[in-house]
Amino acid sequence: MKTSDNDLMKRLEKIAEKKAVRFCYGCYREAPEGVCTECHSDDLMFLLPHVGCEYGHLWIIEHLIGENVQTVNIEEMFESSMDGAYSGTTTVGWLEVDTLTAVKELDPISWQMAVQEYESQLEDDGEIISFDNGGSYYLTSDVENYVEESEEELCLCEAEG
Ligand SMILES: [Zn+2]
Repeated sequence: MKTSDNDLMKRLEKIAEKKAVRFCYGCYREAPEGVCTECHSDDLMFLLPHVGCEYGHLWIIEHLIGENVQTVNIEEMFESSMDGAYSGTTTVGWLEVDTLTAVKELDPISWQMAVQEYESQLEDDGEIISFDNGGSYYLTSDVENYVEESEEELCLCEAEG
């Protein structure tokens, strides 16, 4: 899933807003009301104590997900998905070797390309999601679970819309 999945991203943005405090960088003070009481600016950053102070939601979402959701190892997932089709051993000359290990070692580039393809397929299917342009991936279902738990914890009811 790309971060263009609006519904999940909108829910994550709400969680981010609840976890962070709005902050006026000009006056260097918190502005929890959404407008700075000193300079009346609504051009506010978000402050996440002990983490950072920046504009926008994405860095907060990245941080929260990184802290609370396990990343997935795409190569391991690929390997176990291939295990059904290519289980067992292959004979190379007089050697009997594990088929997948043989492929990986004989043609690591082909192997990496197949892993990449698998990764894009999972992303297109919405099975996995990244918040840093593919640097790390999470299972979408894990992220959804985190979102649901956090919404409950923060009382972000549906009715609040
Ligand atoms: Zn201000």
